[in-house]
Amino acid sequence: MKLFLVIASILLLTLMPAPTPVQSAADIVFKNGNVYTANDKAPKAQAIAVKDDRIVFVGTNAAAQKYVGTNTRVVDLKGNTMLPGFTDSHQHLSGVGLREMTLNLENTTSLQDFLAKVKARVDQAKPGDWVTGRGWIETHWQPSVFPTRSDLDTVSPNNPVFLGRADGHGAVANSAALKIAGVDKDTPNPFGGEISKDKQSGEPNGMLLDAAQGLVRRRIPAITPEEAERAVVLGVKRDIELGWTQIQDAGGTYADVDIFKKLYAAGTIKLRIYKAVYGPGPTATRLMNEGPTIGAYGNRFNLRTIKVVSDGALGSRGAALLEPYSDATDSSGFLTVKAEELRPMLVEALRKGIQVETHAIGDRANRFVLDEYETAFKAVPPSERKVAEPRWRVEHAQIVNPADIPRFAKLGVIPSMQPSHAIGDLFFAPSRLGIKRLAGSYAWESFIKSGVVVPGGSDAPSNVVNR
Ligand SMILES: [Zn+2]
Repeated sequence: MKLFLVIASILLLTLMPAPTPVQSAADIVFKNGNVYTANDKAPKAQAIAVKDDRIVFVGTNAAAQKYVGTNTRVVDLKGNTMLPGFTDSHQHLSGVGLREMTLNLENTTSLQDFLAKVKARVDQAKPGDWVTGRGWIETHWQPSVFPTRSDLDTVSPNNPVFLGRADGHGAVANSAALKIAGVDKDTPNPFGGEISKDKQSGEPNGMLLDAAQGLVRRRIPAITPEEAERAVVLGVKRDIELGWTQIQDAGGTYADVDIFKKLYAAGTIKLRIYKAVYGPGPTATRLMNEGPTIGAYGNRFNLRTIKVVSDGALGSRGAALLEPYSDATDSSGFLTVKAEELRPMLVEALRKGIQVETHAIGDRANRFVLDEYETAFKAVPPSERKVAEPRWRVEHAQIVNPADIPRFAKLGVIPSMQPSHAIGDLFFAPSRLGIKRLAGSYAWESFIKSGVVVPGGSDAPSNVVNR
């Protein structure tokens, strides 16, 4: 999986072809390397020359010699491998850091294991403290069913508990947490979410899907500014340890932006961040009014993208499908954004040169997003756009009706996909979707053959791979 991700990421980062040689000396020349260029026309090279912050030459040792001047630093790579920097094209940076700070439930192997981990944390908590965390997934538990409030009540009868599923689209709460949030059998489902209820008693069973998670989450005391800053620092540390040189932060607010700017200004973080903020809403409006930030802090920080979420996830059956779920025929998921709120924002984003990236997992959500993008593209022709080729994206593009796959290339829309979801969903996608619908699902090769570039991302910490 890791290798696959790396290869996918490398495709993103095509080195610029060598420009017409400048006769001035370079700052650094690397030679005797096993250099992977990610340029199909010349995939391997021996040497690289760098001047200022740009690669000015890629090629042979002999040809690199003319870039060596009296002040040039020459690095002998001694046959070692040199690669373009890796970009994670879809990540949630604060989430990666917060997972390090709260209860990390990744690699939880059974309900018993899950409850034991929660109990250990509850035992350390003071009366009234919230116990929060994320990362569990029931796919390989026996039986493979969601945990419930009653399960959690056995280990935490008093402290409120709220624990997110690995995909971020569902969470389980205990009775104490539901009580604080005032969620009971009479609470209606919020728009874009579902309070899962016991079929017999009608009482909430503890599972909250998509927007319904907010009913409890908003009652959890907010993290302090210091904690938020620490999460970013820990997230950056983790990313750098994994070898990423840039991450694309798929959503957030100006509070994140302020933290990034503060840490960049202080020289605390070096990682490149390509940042999106959520829309439609006041945050997206602010970005369109203030305009994008491009290449700040030594080419390390960009803020030029609005992240929209158009449906839920497949595992929790929140993904919006054209036909009902094969294993729950009374449901076909739900859209989580209203067309009338999206439309004016898309039009304005084109006029202002702002990129839009929209989470779409189900085939209905993917079609909806393509339709809305297409309508906006027609309403604002290239001559009226600030950026003629806006490179709008669909995040995940996971279950796509085969008829819609060629529309991405036709519209110039980028399907930004994550290998971890294909692997994580392997165990339940056939039952959720039925075999026929799998034809356009996780369709990497069909997308590549249709003529689009498919960026690879991790979606960390929503890593649903669980071995
Ligand atoms: Zn994501």
